Amino acid sequence: MTATLIDGNALAKRIRAEVATRAAALTARGHQPGLAVVLVGEDPASQVYVRNKVKACEDNGLYSSLDRYPADLTESDLLARIDELNRDPKINGILVQLPLPKHIDSHKVLEAIAPEKDVDGFHVSNAGALMTGAPLFRPCTPYGCMKMLESVEFPLRGAVAVVIGASNIVGKPMAMMLLQAGATVTICNSKTRDLAAHTRNADVIVAAVGKRNIVTADMVKPGAAVIDVGMNRDDQGKLCGDVDFQGVKDVAGFITPVPGGVGPMTITMLLVNTIEAAERALG
Ligand code: NAP
Repeated sequence: MTATLIDGNALAKRIRAEVATRAAALTARGHQPGLAVVLVGEDPASQVYVRNKVKACEDNGLYSSLDRYPADLTESDLLARIDELNRDPKINGILVQLPLPKHIDSHKVLEAIAPEKDVDGFHVSNAGALMTGAPLFRPCTPYGCMKMLESVEFPLRGAVAVVIGASNIVGKPMAMMLLQAGATVTICNSKTRDLAAHTRNADVIVAAVGKRNIVTADMVKPGAAVIDVGMNRDDQGKLCGDVDFQGVKDVAGFITPVPGGVGPMTITMLLVNTIEAAERALG
């Protein structure tokens, strides 16, 4: 292996220690930061994610509430609950776990969250503010990727960056953050004609597709930083990313593993956003 491993677990641990200190300071002033997590339906992956988020709050001194609703919850009942949480002073951040059941309009639900409690950064006012440079919150997964690049002092100014995947929650905000850091950014999607022609020229590759081996060693410039957001299962059922780690680690300069890479950083940045929301609420 020639690449330096960017260890998401270790970095997450360091940032969570800072989160715990800030949470304790707020709690000492009588304002324990609080995150409300809302889960609708029985999706097994979502259940694991919300459990991990609630546990991360508990472990680091944040208050958390978990609302679990059956899959047939009506949209208007969900909107009514969000309205209550928007007005609840104990709650600084609200997270509605996606995906929602098909009969509920996710867009409407995300827009119902008060922007100052939108710790996922998905509200259109935060997404728009990310474009113009000063959002209240940055979406947690790309924010975590940026922290990983920062942790190894990867020079982004003037770098060529390729983001593979253009979703609203990962690819697009990732591209925006890289652009703001001074990189020259290309966003690829499923219609991109020759993915390798883009990635081979890149100093930074962020893979956020959800397909195994979308990035192989022959697609990577020697020394590039490769950030793997993808979460897939290999033939043995083990968690793996979008990047062919075994091959790419011998070409890249920096690489993130799956598991133990972007995943723990995503939850960590959710805690950071919640602390920031609480500090802001206190003025
Ligand atoms: P998504 O909404 O399904 O978006 C996937 C994107 O990949 C789309 O923009 C799609 O293009 C693009 N794509 C599909 N096939 C492609 C190809 N062959 N070449 C280039 N682009 C292609 O997924 P997402 O929510 O962004 O998540 C992406 C992955 O990250 C998933 O594996 C997810 O589980 C993982 N994830 C991980 C974390 C974490 O914390 N580790 C957090 C969030 C997501 P079109 O726009 O043309 O359809």
